Amino acid sequence: MTAHKERPDIILETRDVCRLFGDKAAWFGEKRVVRAVDGVSLGIRRGETLAVVGESGCGKSTLARLLVRLLRPTSGAVIYEGRDIAALSDSEMRGLRRDLQFVFQDPFSSLNPRMTVGALIEEPLRVHGLGNRAERRRRVAQLLERVGLSPEFAGRYPHEFSGGQRQRIGIARALASGPKVVIGDEPVSALDVSIQAQVINLLEDLKEEFHLTLILIAHDLAVIRHMSDRVAVMYLGEIVELAETDDLYARPLHPYTQALMRAIPVASPHVPAMQAGLKGDVPSPLAPPPGCRFHTRCPLATSLCAERKPALAAVGEGRLVACHHWREAAEAAPELRREPPRSPAAERRFALYQERSEQQERLRTAPAAGSQSQRGEPQNA
Ligand code: SF4
Repeated sequence: MTAHKERPDIILETRDVCRLFGDKAAWFGEKRVVRAVDGVSLGIRRGETLAVVGESGCGKSTLARLLVRLLRPTSGAVIYEGRDIAALSDSEMRGLRRDLQFVFQDPFSSLNPRMTVGALIEEPLRVHGLGNRAERRRRVAQLLERVGLSPEFAGRYPHEFSGGQRQRIGIARALASGPKVVIGDEPVSALDVSIQAQVINLLEDLKEEFHLTLILIAHDLAVIRHMSDRVAVMYLGEIVELAETDDLYARPLHPYTQALMRAIPVASPHVPAMQAGLKGDVPSPLAPPPGCRFHTRCPLATSLCAERKPALAAVGEGRLVACHHWREAAEAAPELRREPPRSPAAERRFALYQERSEQQERLRTAPAAGSQSQRGEPQNA
């Protein structure tokens, strides 16, 4: 029986997925292996925005690539609409590519500098045989307009645009084939703070308009707070906590999630700065610690933690956590059980988010007066 039939609300799922990489710098012929993603099982609900959060090197970008088969897993299955895409041939996968699209972190290197913007956005349409030439051109113009760029820009080259504009072009290209799932691998982390908010708001709008399922990879809990439905927290290749966004921010249970929460800079002088909970660097994925992988940095670690690996277990409605002492952890962090602090960047994004909501409300109540400012975003973003 397929996953699709078992859970029609789940559009994409990983089952015990592992991705190992050989270490090319191994000395004396000793073969070493990096366990970039290690036994991840995760179901992504149709139409949701799922954020995957963790420090650099935690495996989140590798997981993102496994989800759209930019990488094949070493073991385990990746089920999309009932089919294990990890087991499909390249030609079988080609038909599904239009459903699963990727927005890359770096808008500077992800666009071919020799192609015009029009050709870049049209390429997925051509590859999938969608429309004739005139229809494709019309679609390119519509997409450019929808992401806040003039259709006249179709003849220009990527180097003629700012970072924010290039990311908009990347988003238009990802949307061209009419995907069902879009994965953004830190889509705003290379952009200026004010542009980040505009691109995040754009992604949110497009998600509603195109009925997308969105998976956002981020290293910053503040970035994804206002646009994700659920958050998966990763540490050293494993998911350590999965929760509805509101539940996670109101009461983080895993000591690592709590540390990420404490790492959000405080914007208000009225909110006392919290003590950072993380000590030391992330251990090498070549030799992850035994037992709980977080035990070398965890303030609550016991001898049990060093000996036995905690399972990712249900601890409430839709909530999973991998920690032997999650109850004690929740009690030990009372300062996090409140409206969490927002960074200055998040404050600006939140202000823009509110502004846009108010603008939409005005448009709803006075459609004739507001029709010319639907986008509400500057062309030079
Ligand atoms: Fe910390 Fe132990 Fe929980 Fe791991 S299992 S997060 S070391 S308390």
